[in-house]
Amino acid sequence: MQLEQNLLEAIEKIEKARISVDRHRIIKLVAVSKYSTKEDIQELYQCGQRAFGENKVQDLETKSKELEDKPLEWHFIGTLQTNKINALLKIKPFMLQSLHSLELATNLQKRLQRENLTLNTLLQVNSAKEESKSGFMPEIAYESYLKIKEECPNLKLCGLMSIGAHTQDLKIIQKSFELTRSIYEKLEKEGAKILSMGMSDDFTLAIKCGSNLVRLGSTLFKR
Ligand SMILES: *Cc1c(COP(=O)(O)O)cnc(C)c1O
Repeated sequence: MQLEQNLLEAIEKIEKARISVDRHRIIKLVAVSKYSTKEDIQELYQCGQRAFGENKVQDLETKSKELEDKPLEWHFIGTLQTNKINALLKIKPFMLQSLHSLELATNLQKRLQRENLTLNTLLQVNSAKEESKSGFMPEIAYESYLKIKEECPNLKLCGLMSIGAHTQDLKIIQKSFELTRSIYEKLEKEGAKILSMGMSDDFTLAIKCGSNLVRLGSTLFKR
């Protein structure tokens, strides 16, 4: 029952961080299953975990099919290529957390409209401005969010997602989280509800910086 232990420890850390900053905030945990098997997912499911995240359409396709008898909530968190849009929409994921460009938004809108579907979406912010990461640059994230909200009604924009700076320096990571939070706070007036920040190495810091959704992979699935 190693995974159950991991889950309990993670929840305890989330709770500690949450209570230290804001007792009233509700924090959602998405288990990132990209390095794990169907059996691992089932084990966490047995412990009550329902939300899982994948970063490749192919893997999401396989795992959601293998586990289709369970009421799981799938989050897509990877860089979505245009040629994978149809495959993703067929799976009907609960949420796309990684909307990274206007072009992708327009393409998604067209197909969603044609199929008469909607999709919960988070706008991804490249808050650390790293070449290797996708997402909107922070300077244009706010305007882009409003534009997409206006022009792509089938994309149900409900907040922001960001990956902390890729460094061991907590001060720099904190800066990238705080930058995303400042954009999110403006967007709360536009109905934004979700601020997805924090992975295994930095989720307690992310919560202290305002996150209300953490995406945990390695810390949950380690054996
Ligand atoms: C892999 C991944 C995670 C989980 O990372 P861990 O460090 O294993 O917790 C979270 N978010 C995104 C976007 C990822 O690609």
